[in-house]
Amino acid sequence: MGTDIGIDLGTASILVYIRGQGIVLQEPSVVAIDKTTNSILAVGEDARNMLGRTPGNIIPVRPLREGVISDYDITEKMLKYFIARAIGRPLLRKPRIAVCVPSSVTEVERRAVEECAYKAGAREVIVIDESLASAIGADIPINEPAGHMICDIGGGTTEISVISLGGMVVTNAIRLGGDEFDEAIIKYVKAVNNLIIGQQMAEHLKIEIGNAVPDKNIEEIEVKGTNAANGLPQRFKIGSDQIREALHDPINQIIEKIKSTLGQTPPELAADVMHNGVYITGGGSLLYGLDQLIASELGIPVLLAKEPMDCAALGLGNIIENFDLLVDVGRTNFLKQG
Ligand code: ADP
Ligand code: MG
Repeated sequence: MGTDIGIDLGTASILVYIRGQGIVLQEPSVVAIDKTTNSILAVGEDARNMLGRTPGNIIPVRPLREGVISDYDITEKMLKYFIARAIGRPLLRKPRIAVCVPSSVTEVERRAVEECAYKAGAREVIVIDESLASAIGADIPINEPAGHMICDIGGGTTEISVISLGGMVVTNAIRLGGDEFDEAIIKYVKAVNNLIIGQQMAEHLKIEIGNAVPDKNIEEIEVKGTNAANGLPQRFKIGSDQIREALHDPINQIIEKIKSTLGQTPPELAADVMHNGVYITGGGSLLYGLDQLIASELGIPVLLAKEPMDCAALGLGNIIENFDLLVDVGRTNFLKQG
């Protein structure tokens, strides 16, 4: 028997699941490139640590940053690297690989991911829509003839889909996610405090004191920034209420997209969703209070998945544990019913 591997190729992180073992690897999907020689210097965590700290000739690249592949060559090398790392030994037989991609990618990009996986050493590749993988991983009963909505807030994209009978009925994606939250914090601090902070600091603020709903408790963090006027380093305090204000716009866009997706959903299925609620997954769904805000804005229940950042990989895992039962359904391979 060969090895079967599931790969969640996210805009921010890559997760690898091996059949029989579970998730064996989770790293940032970042590659550090030496511009002068065009060679890869580091991949994953090591490359991420170089973000914002590199001399001019080294550039960190996130090849999937906005849910589209900006560089196939780098994506292929990154995949190869992570597959080798995850397996840890040469294989007698090439692995079968199930990989998920955002449902918003074009057919060409989809085929390119497939091609990358073959070039990275697969003997068989199936490409699965991320929404479906995440829904399976979040334990949503997707094969029921009932509408379920899943909203996955990743690093570069947010994907909202309504699923029924194992397929996506409606799907919408916006190129906005956790990265945009970080950007919004950077912009806010620049506009309000006249200070410049880096992406990693912004992400830290978002994770530590970010919130989506008003809270009487205001948490504060001391931050180091650069004064935009004189370029000198400066320390300042920022509060959770300010982070909430900073995040207002991107969060609103996500809520509007959920609304419009509901509007495009056939009435019976929309009624199911109103009743069953919206499942939120992806790292962005961990923003404190976001579930509460979406629920109160839309007037429907919101369920935060148990392992929001692992859902897609767990769903792929579920699929590859049953690899031999896979059948073709339209453009996706899917599990046989019953
Ligand atoms: P992708 O699937 O696109 O790779 P992920 O689902 O891994 O993305 O989510 C990554 C995003 O989640 C990043 O923007 C990260 O900052 C954000 N994130 C992770 N943990 C939290 C948290 N506790 N609160 C808010 N955002 C978070
Ligand atoms: Mg994801």
